[in-house]
Amino acid sequence: MAIRIIRKKEDPALRQRCSEVKEITPQIITILEDMAETMYHNDGVGLAANQVGIPKQLVVIDILDQGLLELINPKIVEAEGKEAEAEGCLSFPGIVGEVVRANKVTVEALNREGKKIRVQGSGLFARALQHEIDHLEGKVFIDKVVSFLEPSD
Ligand code: ZN
Repeated sequence: MAIRIIRKKEDPALRQRCSEVKEITPQIITILEDMAETMYHNDGVGLAANQVGIPKQLVVIDILDQGLLELINPKIVEAEGKEAEAEGCLSFPGIVGEVVRANKVTVEALNREGKKIRVQGSGLFARALQHEIDHLEGKVFIDKVVSFLEPSD
């Protein structure tokens, strides 16, 4: 495994739409493992593949050490509610802003074995799912911020 360099701010990789993973090869598994290592190394709760310069639909999430979730080709299939909460992003260090997101979402994806999985999340987990899936579409959270806040640390 290896820690990869996180693309930041104006890097064009962050604006790139990621393509669907057609086949889960050993290379895809290596990318997922590197993404997880990179996320933990930087104390993040989620990371999308284009944040390390790979335009493929791959996401890793671990909210408050609840366990690593790997998502391949994730899609939001249901969303409900709305709430504004603070969020940040490893690609925009030092920036915190309030973003309005659904407070409950259901996501369908593939796991590393290629099995279809369905993940339901609310609160911070739902927020992370939406934030990371936005990345795969070349969208970044600063475009959605309704008010910028002082970083807490
Ligand atoms: Zn992000």
